Amino acid sequence: MSNQVIVFTEKEMPKVLNFYEEDKITRNAPGVIFAAKTADTSITAYRSGKVLFQGGGAEREAARWSTSSTPAVANAKSSGTKGDILPEKFAVMSVLGSDETGTGDFFGPITVAACYISSEKIELVRELGVKDSKQLTDTYMQQIAGDLKQVVPHCVLTLDNTKYNEIQSKGWSQGKIKAILHNQALQQVLDQIKPEYPEYILIDQFAERKVYYNHLKNEPAIVQDKVLFSTKAENLHVSVATASILARVAFLEQMDQLSVTAGVTLPKGAGPRVDQVACQIIRKKGEPFLQSITKAHFANTQKALKLVYKK
Ligand code: MG
Repeated sequence: MSNQVIVFTEKEMPKVLNFYEEDKITRNAPGVIFAAKTADTSITAYRSGKVLFQGGGAEREAARWSTSSTPAVANAKSSGTKGDILPEKFAVMSVLGSDETGTGDFFGPITVAACYISSEKIELVRELGVKDSKQLTDTYMQQIAGDLKQVVPHCVLTLDNTKYNEIQSKGWSQGKIKAILHNQALQQVLDQIKPEYPEYILIDQFAERKVYYNHLKNEPAIVQDKVLFSTKAENLHVSVATASILARVAFLEQMDQLSVTAGVTLPKGAGPRVDQVACQIIRKKGEPFLQSITKAHFANTQKALKLVYKK
């Protein structure tokens, strides 16, 4: 559940009210000039020009109306979204989105996915189960990923631990690694959908635009046209939400495989449980093996080694 508030001018307000006219309900409260209820969002408009969006779809609905003339001030306040201001009705446009997973996990790869969802497919993708990201469990995402892959152009890249450790030890930051993977995934989807080009490309922001493009300066092809950045982008367009699911599912698949290889269920994250399991693995299979399934530069390696020599 979240609350989003956008302040509209007198000129803009009728557009908003018209849009929700079919879902109109009666609400007799002070200052309320209009109220509506859709499947997942309550919309309340006040005489002051404020419109309150509440419920599971609040961020999406608010994003629909975030324009330069109605900056999502309250949006930024309540959800902490940072980045470019998105055009009006962004949520219903044809957008190529990208997101990554695994950057904070000691065990397992980094996975990046990009996914193009044209406006006419948005409803279908929602029906297939892409909803508020907070409602998505790992099991649920694994269930819907197959169907999603059938219907939307996408690309999923997995950077395994050996390759990750190799480039990391050459001095590549995670930011650079992510930028290059996002760019490659986006480029691959653009190649798939040619000659069509998305109305916009939205990257779940992990770096400022300048920093992002600086990382890409030696890349053979750089995706730049119509690119927007925002944090929490999975709530702003279903393409990023879907990319996020596909990246996560690819990560989980790898984790399952690596768990089999390691002979133990590998925990996610980088906490104390991770150190303990890493310690067990060093004892059973040695440190080089541990390296081959982890982001070896994380502090967990040293912590696990300490645990090994403690006993
Ligand atoms: Mg992200």
